[in-house]
Amino acid sequence: MQGASSASARPSSDWPRRDAPIDLAELTLTELEALFDQRHLPRFHARQIFRWIWKRGVTDFSAMTDLGLALREQLAEDFRISTPAIVRRDVSEDGTQKFVLALQDARRIESVFIPDTPAQTFCISTQVGCAMGCAFCLTGKMGLVRNLTAGEIAGQVRVLSHALQLPEFNIVLMGMGEPLHNYDATLKALTAYTGGVHLILGGYDKGAEFAELAAATEGRVKQVLLIGATAPRLATAFAARAATAGPLATPYVLCGDLQGAVTAAAASAEPGDVVLLSPACASWDQYRDYEQRGEQFLRLVSELRARS
Ligand code: SF4
Repeated sequence: MQGASSASARPSSDWPRRDAPIDLAELTLTELEALFDQRHLPRFHARQIFRWIWKRGVTDFSAMTDLGLALREQLAEDFRISTPAIVRRDVSEDGTQKFVLALQDARRIESVFIPDTPAQTFCISTQVGCAMGCAFCLTGKMGLVRNLTAGEIAGQVRVLSHALQLPEFNIVLMGMGEPLHNYDATLKALTAYTGGVHLILGGYDKGAEFAELAAATEGRVKQVLLIGATAPRLATAFAARAATAGPLATPYVLCGDLQGAVTAAAASAEPGDVVLLSPACASWDQYRDYEQRGEQFLRLVSELRARS
């Protein structure tokens, strides 16, 4: 992942197929409840299923034992729960594990488990390929094949958690793809695991427009934390949005630099929230490259954990 200038890259995709049964792993809890309302099924069953999928990692309807047998059979007939399949797992000497996962349309992505972090970390993908074309990156050479769906993004976490038998972990979105080019699905995926997202934005000012980004965050992130040279223009975009969207607009905080943003996020985040570093801008006003930026983010978070 590296800085992106726009939230609006579109997938070159024929996926998911329109005639496929509804994939329950693609739905937020609110969407699942609405679906059950439509089918005249009690809402609490939606909450039970959501827990089975996202808290317990169970995707076989027949194993959802607190649902009646008839309902389990009906669900299996009407819906599906898709999960990326592990086709390869490489373990390196330092304990890092690379997973190659096959999607339902046979396309492949990579997810990585990084053990030597303060909490164990899953590095997951948000796209098949990537449009950013960074010269040093193999994924960049593929170009963008398609965006991952929310279920495919969140499903990588479910797969790694199950394969490694890890109930607690950090998530970083630094696998294949640029998350802000697949913004809606990425934020939707994160809501499967979190109470809310605190999004750190900003960096070198390349003159991009941010009105679309400001609108896209509404209802999806708790706040944006603005850093770097672009921060004032981002603040202007979010303030303009607040003038039209009122209380629905996403709150923003000017934080100066990454340290200020991590401190501000830690002060307001609640248990289960995610602090997402996805700047939407290149960072060469502050860092040598994205690796140095990621290292500083990790160090700041580690220092917070050590103090808590
Ligand atoms: S996946 Fe590769 S090409 Fe895409 S943003 Fe990340 S480093 Fe750049």
